[in-house]
Amino acid sequence: MTAETVLARISITKPWLGDEEAKALAEVVASGSIGQGPKVKEFEAGFSASQEVRHAVATSSCTAALHLALVVAGIGPGDDVVVPSLSFVATANAVTYVGARPVFCDVDPASGNATAETIHAALTLDTRAVIVVDQGGVPVDLDPIRELCDRHEITVIEDAACAVGSLYKGRPVGSGADLTVWSFHSDKVVTTGEGGMLTTHRADWAARARTLREHSKGLPPTDRQDSVQSPPRLHLEVGFNYLMTDMQAAVGIVQLRRLAQMVARRREIAASYVAGLAGLKGLRFVADPPYGTTNFQSFWVEVQPGFAAGREGLLSRLADSGISATRGVMAAHRQPAYRWRDTGNARLQHTERLTDSTLILPVFHELDTVSINRVINTIQTAGPGVAHE
Ligand SMILES: *Cc1c(COP(=O)(O)O)cnc(C)c1O
Repeated sequence: MTAETVLARISITKPWLGDEEAKALAEVVASGSIGQGPKVKEFEAGFSASQEVRHAVATSSCTAALHLALVVAGIGPGDDVVVPSLSFVATANAVTYVGARPVFCDVDPASGNATAETIHAALTLDTRAVIVVDQGGVPVDLDPIRELCDRHEITVIEDAACAVGSLYKGRPVGSGADLTVWSFHSDKVVTTGEGGMLTTHRADWAARARTLREHSKGLPPTDRQDSVQSPPRLHLEVGFNYLMTDMQAAVGIVQLRRLAQMVARRREIAASYVAGLAGLKGLRFVADPPYGTTNFQSFWVEVQPGFAAGREGLLSRLADSGISATRGVMAAHRQPAYRWRDTGNARLQHTERLTDSTLILPVFHELDTVSINRVINTIQTAGPGVAHE
């Protein structure tokens, strides 16, 4: 047996789940009421309180919440929606679902996020909405974007799929957008397996999203728990099945209680990486922007020309040591599904450089010091002095 084969594999991410989640889930199963019900309502209330936003509508995924956000904002055929190309493809896909056109904007080279400047460069006469993304958990600089969009009567949607627990100017991200969407996918900081949330300060939009998520039935089931006879069906418009279950919500309620602890641990791991890799030339690490803090959903590293092994070389060294790392955030405009799209006049140079030169290191709550040091040592040995064969 070689040394490599005895090393346990270090995965890139792993949800932090325990007895409390198991107990909460078992209680829902025992109750016999496993679909959307009181637990979803409780999760929504807890989420809106913790994120400092008036209304929260739980959904089956963040992608579903993105779709609902665009529908309630009235976006449709003939409209342009500016989105960063540097994002998971769901951001652009939701725009396509409603028949609008995604127009890709570039990102700031330091934060990896869209800015008022990059959005401004992508505006068209038909731009009705902008979807900004808190990429990898790094908060977007929303205030200048709001100012730009308010001037042009453009709806601001925030894709905070990665950013629960991240702060913008001391407040939870998302509270300054017209509509914000969140993900509880199993790779995200707070998870319900699959699941999402839409938050907004507008009661009318929240109410419409609430009915749209269940085929626009006249009355949501959360409000008719006690009625024996079901009311007559009334479908006010064409809706969707985007419901979260009480099983998911029960897990989410427990997860949400641990949010501060989870973010603190992730920030500790990120600080260990930065300290352990300081002084290695040719690497730049994701960091808090001046106006906020990240939850370190992703700890990404930009591999610059000064690092001889290059990104691909470093990825294979990590893989050889049993460490899962991935290439950085994708660029939607390079995917076959979007290659043919008009990307407007925006140039995407920073997007292309970041997607080509970054990689993401393992970060999860239970990642231990031994594993963190193994990652650090592997990168140090692959460092600038070592030529890549
Ligand atoms: C994960 C993610 C999504 C999709 O979330 P789902 O809950 O899986 O639909 C959307 N946008 C971004 C930026 C994401 O990271």
